[in-house]
Amino acid sequence: MFDHPDYDAHEKVLMVEDAATGLKAIIAVHSTALGAAAGGCRLWAYDSGVSALGDALRLSRGMSYKNAMANLPMGGGKAVILGPVLADRREVVLEAFGRAVDSLDGQYITAEDVGVSVADMKIVARTTGYVSGLDAAVGKSGGDPSPFTARGVRVGIEAAVKARLGHSDLAGLKVAVQGLGHVGSYLCKELFNLGAKLVVADIHVERVQDICDRFGAETVSVDDILLQPVDVVAPCALGGTVSEDVATRLQATIVAGAANNQLLTPQAGVTLGQRGILYAPDYVINAGGIIMVAGEISGHNDEALILAQIDSIGPRLLDIFALAKSRNVITNVVADSMARDKIRAAKAKGKVTEAA
Ligand code: NAD
Repeated sequence: MFDHPDYDAHEKVLMVEDAATGLKAIIAVHSTALGAAAGGCRLWAYDSGVSALGDALRLSRGMSYKNAMANLPMGGGKAVILGPVLADRREVVLEAFGRAVDSLDGQYITAEDVGVSVADMKIVARTTGYVSGLDAAVGKSGGDPSPFTARGVRVGIEAAVKARLGHSDLAGLKVAVQGLGHVGSYLCKELFNLGAKLVVADIHVERVQDICDRFGAETVSVDDILLQPVDVVAPCALGGTVSEDVATRLQATIVAGAANNQLLTPQAGVTLGQRGILYAPDYVINAGGIIMVAGEISGHNDEALILAQIDSIGPRLLDIFALAKSRNVITNVVADSMARDKIRAAKAKGKVTEAA
């Protein structure tokens, strides 16, 4: 693992194989410098253990950067459960996953991600208290983070449109949305309400039909969605869909969506930059859900504060875009270095406090 290309001095990586239930999972704690490592749990049928490990390592580092950039008092972690999990084993597998989370004594706090629902998290909560993304208790924040993520992505698209196209009005703007799951469908609603024209694709035809019916969206094939002649491309499916080839052929002037790890390679980001395509760094624009979850973890119920924190994603992106322009570097490189500075400063402060 130490030689894995995605290993980045992660503080801890827990490999779990539970013979009694069939659970196979990896929990990666990237950094706890800013607080307990928070990040969702993904259930996916990986083609190998190595690719599951890579996903856990990349996603957990992304969470460290995301939480740091959103100014949250939380570090970064992520869990992956290696699927498929048979329906009649799901409950016991999720309970076993909860026990694994619990064994980390609060270093990692889990939540839902792709393939995992609020109902699943309620099962995980039977065996660990280190869980978020549960139904909101009366007067508290909680529940599905997706609408909050979608709000942040919409705010981020407005900022990108302002920086790249010189206006923040989304009326008449053409947006291609790849992936119509939890976040993608809420994002379509946000964009439709502001007058944007939607082009959409998903591998689930019934999701596509639903969005077309509700928001008058146009549909294209999943292979063509990122290459549409639109203003904005919003990747909201899995990560790695913006390859160098896609970056070379993309027609939009803005890439701004919810998916984690959108760029397949660093070179894809370079190509976007060279072609004058503005990229909104994924972990900055998609922080809305974790901002809500941070409210849930801290137990406060100030919705106005949570929405204001989510809306600050816009000005934060504008700062990143301006810095990238002034330094003539690409946006994700600027965001990475800002996030690393924040984590390094927290580590240094922690060491000073320990010494004192
Ligand atoms: P989801 O599983 O609900 O939705 C993903 C959708 O993408 C599904 O409808 C799936 O059918 C579709 N899809 C998969 N492959 C596709 C392809 N090749 N082309 C088109 N569609 C495809 O997941 P979600 O919760 O909506 O999350 C979407 C992305 O946003 C993920 O990358 C996730 O990590 C990221 N994200 C989600 C949240 C959140 O609050 N849920 C927060 C931050 C980041």
